[in-house]
Amino acid sequence: MAELEKTYTPAAVEAKWYAVWEKNRYFHADENRTGDEPFCIVIPPPNVTGMLTLGHVLNNTIQDILARKKRMEGRTVLWLPGTDHAGIATQNVVERALLAGEKKSRHDLGREEFLDRVWQWKDKYGSTILRQLRMLGCSCDWERTRFTMDEGLSRAVTEAFVRLYEKGVVYRGKYIINWCPRCRTALSDEENEHQEKNGHLWHIRYPRQDGNGYVVVATTRPETMLGDTAVAVNPADERYKGLVGNTVVLPLANRPIPVIADHYVDREFGTGCVKVTPAHDPNDFAMGERHNLEKLVVMNLDGTMNNAVPQKYRGMDRFTCRKAVVEDLNSLGLLEKIQDHSHAVGHCQRCHTVTEPFLSMQWFVKYDQWIQPALAAVEKRELRFYPERWEKTFAHWLENIRDWCIARQLWWGHRIPAWYCVCGHIVVARQVPTECPACKSTDLKQDEDVLDTWFSSWLWPFSTMGWPDETATLSKFYPTNALVTAADIIFFWVARMVFAGMEFMGKLPFSEVFFNSIVRDMQGRKMSKSLGNSPDPIEVINTYGADALRYTIISLAPSGQDVHFATEKCELGRNFANKLWNSARFAMMNFKDQTITAPQKSQLRTEDQWMISRFNQAVKVISRAIDGYDFNAALAAAYHFTWNELCDWYLEFIKPRMAEGADLASRNAALHTLREVLVGTVKLLHPFMPFITEEIYAALREYGVEGAEHLIVARYPVCDDNLIVPNIEARMQFVQDLVVVIRNLRAENNIPPGKKGDVLISAAEEAKQQWIMDLETQIKFLSKTGTLTVTHAAAKPAQSVSAVIAGAEVFLNLEGLVDKAAERAKIMKDLERNDSFLKSVEAKLANEKFMQHASPEVVEKERVKLSTTREKLEKLRANLALFS
Ligand SMILES: [Zn+2]
Ligand SMILES: [Zn+2]
Repeated sequence: MAELEKTYTPAAVEAKWYAVWEKNRYFHADENRTGDEPFCIVIPPPNVTGMLTLGHVLNNTIQDILARKKRMEGRTVLWLPGTDHAGIATQNVVERALLAGEKKSRHDLGREEFLDRVWQWKDKYGSTILRQLRMLGCSCDWERTRFTMDEGLSRAVTEAFVRLYEKGVVYRGKYIINWCPRCRTALSDEENEHQEKNGHLWHIRYPRQDGNGYVVVATTRPETMLGDTAVAVNPADERYKGLVGNTVVLPLANRPIPVIADHYVDREFGTGCVKVTPAHDPNDFAMGERHNLEKLVVMNLDGTMNNAVPQKYRGMDRFTCRKAVVEDLNSLGLLEKIQDHSHAVGHCQRCHTVTEPFLSMQWFVKYDQWIQPALAAVEKRELRFYPERWEKTFAHWLENIRDWCIARQLWWGHRIPAWYCVCGHIVVARQVPTECPACKSTDLKQDEDVLDTWFSSWLWPFSTMGWPDETATLSKFYPTNALVTAADIIFFWVARMVFAGMEFMGKLPFSEVFFNSIVRDMQGRKMSKSLGNSPDPIEVINTYGADALRYTIISLAPSGQDVHFATEKCELGRNFANKLWNSARFAMMNFKDQTITAPQKSQLRTEDQWMISRFNQAVKVISRAIDGYDFNAALAAAYHFTWNELCDWYLEFIKPRMAEGADLASRNAALHTLREVLVGTVKLLHPFMPFITEEIYAALREYGVEGAEHLIVARYPVCDDNLIVPNIEARMQFVQDLVVVIRNLRAENNIPPGKKGDVLISAAEEAKQQWIMDLETQIKFLSKTGTLTVTHAAAKPAQSVSAVIAGAEVFLNLEGLVDKAAERAKIMKDLERNDSFLKSVEAKLANEKFMQHASPEVVEKERVKLSTTREKLEKLRANLALFS
């Protein structure tokens, strides 16, 4: 017979079971299985550079809970894993390594060799995070692991690009984009993070060409003035009525520029007169289009000033140039004033460099055609968000987006499938074209740029299943069922997947999206490497076990709120695992050498029926909570049922029935109930704590438990409403209350644990008397009671203490239970202490000065003290009488 080890050691158990699950291919989803209901989740692909963080732990534990539960419900579950090539992030990592190791830049190596290095790096480190997910217990279908740059997914990217280009949804154009001078690439609006910064507003005088004084413009970026091609005022602004149509001379550059009128200009901003820099500001760009202004680019791609500016500033870094421009303006007497000014400044999401709005030729995706359908899907509840508040955020974003800039000036990524001919023709094709269809020239050059990483991840729910081919996997598992992700990529990823699903598959990629919480430290700070407050989950697993970590992180995250995590909190999970382990061990010690058979219904005692009733209730609550994405509530219910009801009450209740000489039928009924409920409990807990439950299940199978060989594929419990019996639950609640008050009375009166007390219960109702008699043995056992007497009505016996519960009064006879003299001395001391305290409060309240100065709240507090102390004294005196 299997026996559980005395203490639970996670490491060995976890490695053993993960290997068994993989060997049996339990994670594998068979696309050819028929007559079942599929369930599919695609993993938010972690960056291939990634290491497991607590954010991943939370996100993937939730996905695993769903996958394991649905699998146990008999559905064919596909949890599809993989990694993202993470363009900028990965290129940055390899570039840094190259610089540190060989003092070389990617340009020193050249494109081809550099890409070779990135692939080498990917082969070496790229699967670290997937290995770590295995340690966490994730039941992904590893046979289907995908990478956004593998062959199939790359083909999907090209296909999507070409199709959208042919429809005119993908286009090339010269617009203002966000440029990172450090990464030297364009960024999408989402990758351009705005931070509020304290800066300045410089007021600069632009002299009028006619010599009639000057106009004053205000700017937060003085260096860009070198690219000004106009000054603008609002046409309704009376102050500048006569100015429109005139010319001013741009200081430092000494270029004449016109004064124009445009409704965009805010009369309240600065002087109401603004500089117009069409090549370095999106709003100025639009103004430039309206007024046909020259768009003068004044910077190089690395953020230094270019040759379009006066000699002196050429080659200067933009911020050095800012200082120089301000100084020069000042010495020319053209600086009117400088104001402090706080404003939002764009930063590169990857390297945190201040981005530059930059006029540049790029590839874009038009969003217009998808916005209304996406909004309608949310409206019609075809797409649901949990927590629901994200629906508003989503809608707001949709209503305010600009087209998506998808070109990146990087090497690592999907190269844009566009070729340029010397004749000016552009060929966008699925295969490398051999000649230009316009002029037949073979001199074609492919676009140097790659696509935004998200241009491959937005296809993830179907590209991973073989699209554009019509595969069996796609037809079985698309659309997927649920997406579990972090809210910070709602626009980067979730929204774009919705677009791509509608566009390429004609169906939304998923119907439900759950946004998991953010993991923070105990002080509420975000976990970050630089703060050093981010524990390594693998170390946590090594210390506490994966189950304990999973349990803890879920138990710390009420739906929709942040998780406040500290490694020590994993004690919670470890304690729970130990409690479960010890209880299972105790149960199995009792199963040993017993033949357990299904009892007659009449052989089930009240506590057995109660346990079965409570179990079914737990099944109902837990299952519903998981299906409703309330994992925290599901786990809380599982905890309460396991720890309090099964371990603390039921196991104790049945102990007398295990004793030597107990009735055999009754023992069998108890053992059978215990075994079945224990199996049901490990099933309920399996999605949360897969390893320890599998281990206990394996041991239980040796005591006659039937069903699947392994818990991971055993049937999830189904609630039987007929077995939920409110009358039995009320009865047991009454008995539990009774035991609790007797225990409390013993504790309050310091009765040594070895001494049994005599208890008299006065219960008016016949039924309640019956309930007590029915469980007399158990009550006596649990409350250390000697004789238990139940009557209709009883007066308080001498030398007894009492307590009241709903429907009964309980008297505990202290006679002979306590050392009278010692007890009396203790009470006397207590009396004295309380008496002098009472006197001090009374004195305070009689003190006129105090009463005059104290606030009504303080006086009220003193009055409360007075009455509670008086009550206490009364009680103590009554007690003293008992021991005299
Ligand atoms: Zn950057
Ligand atoms: Zn051509």
